[in-house]
Amino acid sequence: TDFKSDKQPTWCPGCGDFGTMNGMMKALAETGNDPDNTFVVAGIGCSGKIGTYMHSYALHGVHGRALPVGQGVKMSRPDIEVMVAGGDGDGYSIGAGHFVHAVRRNVDMTYVVMDNRIYGLTKGQASPTSRSDFETSTTPEGPKQPPVNPLALALASGASFIAQSFASDALRHQEIVQKAIEHDGFGFVNVFSPCVTFNDVDTYDYFRDSLVDLQEDEDHDPNDYEAAKEVILDGEKEYQGVMYQDENSVPYHEQHGVTENMSEIPDGAPEDAMDLVREFY
Ligand code: SF4
Repeated sequence: TDFKSDKQPTWCPGCGDFGTMNGMMKALAETGNDPDNTFVVAGIGCSGKIGTYMHSYALHGVHGRALPVGQGVKMSRPDIEVMVAGGDGDGYSIGAGHFVHAVRRNVDMTYVVMDNRIYGLTKGQASPTSRSDFETSTTPEGPKQPPVNPLALALASGASFIAQSFASDALRHQEIVQKAIEHDGFGFVNVFSPCVTFNDVDTYDYFRDSLVDLQEDEDHDPNDYEAAKEVILDGEKEYQGVMYQDENSVPYHEQHGVTENMSEIPDGAPEDAMDLVREFY
């Protein structure tokens, strides 16, 4: 698609991030976006390289801080499409505080988390979504604490759109990301994106065998909050699909009347940042 840059990804062959990114690019194209109106903000981690591989405006930001940057871009330019991408370590550990507040703020953007349940870039330590008995070099007997449930965290924070997909189920993943893009508000998608090098538990085969599709297998209604709560808190099964969508969601910029391109300096304002600094000192 138009969104693929000419840079060759350095991800390990077979990494789930390839499928996650392909679906994101196709979803952006299908929803009528093009690289000129799209800004991708990425965190730190293997997944954080995604901005380099996408032909759009992009910023490879500070660890755990991609969401505040993305919200700032969207608030100053409500006319462009903003997509934030990162991993489970970036989003649910160092970035967890930002995640909670981005969710409740409901800025109209999409957040895709490539969840491989491990820190891949630093060679395989337990992440916030690792299983409690997942053995790694730093947790030889497992982290011995329950994994974060990012979907529950989002629901408790007042999310207006919560979904989960699987990098290898290409069409379904693309369709789910499309729904997140089209949602009026903060569209959150947790994507199972297997790390083939360091995680031999949460593999492609595991997800292929265990995932239950909410819309195809279960006839789940995402507008039903109680039903959403039930699947999100179900500790037994793993689901893909749109868990929850608030049909009456009003994005932050509409609630607060931010409708114009705010990135241009208004008449009468100092022309560069140094003028502002001089005014204060
Ligand atoms: Fe992907 Fe894991 Fe390789 Fe990182 S280490 S590129 S997450 S397979």
